[in-house]
Amino acid sequence: MTHHPKSGQPILRVDGLTKRFGGFTAVDDVSVAIRSGERFGLIGPNGSGKTTLINCISGALHSDIGRIVFNGEDVSRLPAYKRTRRGIARSFQIPRPFKSMTVLENLLVAIDFAAIGHGLSVRQQEAAVGAILEKMGLGAKAHALSSQLSQVELRKMELARAMAARPRLLISDEAMAGLSGSEIDEVLALLVTLSRDGITIILIEHIMHAVMQFSERVVCLEAGRIIAEGTPAQVMGDARVQEAYLGA
Ligand code: ADP
Ligand code: MG
Repeated sequence: MTHHPKSGQPILRVDGLTKRFGGFTAVDDVSVAIRSGERFGLIGPNGSGKTTLINCISGALHSDIGRIVFNGEDVSRLPAYKRTRRGIARSFQIPRPFKSMTVLENLLVAIDFAAIGHGLSVRQQEAAVGAILEKMGLGAKAHALSSQLSQVELRKMELARAMAARPRLLISDEAMAGLSGSEIDEVLALLVTLSRDGITIILIEHIMHAVMQFSERVVCLEAGRIIAEGTPAQVMGDARVQEAYLGA
């Protein structure tokens, strides 16, 4: 978290990325560069390729064409767990907690996956996890079963699990869906806190005011292609963006 690449060098560069499913092109020649520490919003109607793009960045999917350069290294061919260890973490659109485990145990699994816990004693691992849970406002829930969490607590745990890998880039895929207005504000405030810690954040969100409030820059996808890029105001005011959302 304290290491930053040389100024001017993007932390993430996606070059000409294309992903097909059979004959269907879900992501079509997308290029984007994200600077270290940026708060970056990714929007687009349902099915426009947002999650597929994120899957290609995190390594859940491999692109057919194009490159992903993270912190100066081409990670395009690395498996997901190696990208996690390089500092790319994501939360899933549909939370997948280990339901029979406590919140604490869920995070212990996550730090083990990221190899952060290796070389640490159980006590040290629990201390590391406890600090993350405090930061995410889940300190009081450490010993609750994840199946007993409320919707907003579950979303926070998803973000906490991603944070357990000590990422430099955090990708949040619709972590706010189904939450109330005040819960959205809570999750947004958490993301701002993480951003202030120096973490680069890609926020995918359908809740427009949340993306617009959070992001320094926004890209809009439609049918796998970038149709607009700019400040939140520029993208919201873009005629093609408005049309894409009306058509959806
Ligand atoms: P978004 O996240 O913007 O809603 P997705 O990236 O999930 O969009 O999906 C983009 C398109 O790719 C959709 O038409 C979707 O049906 C299709 N798609 C996504 N994943 C797969 C898959 N594993 N197999 C086939 N088609 C897929
Ligand atoms: Mg999606």
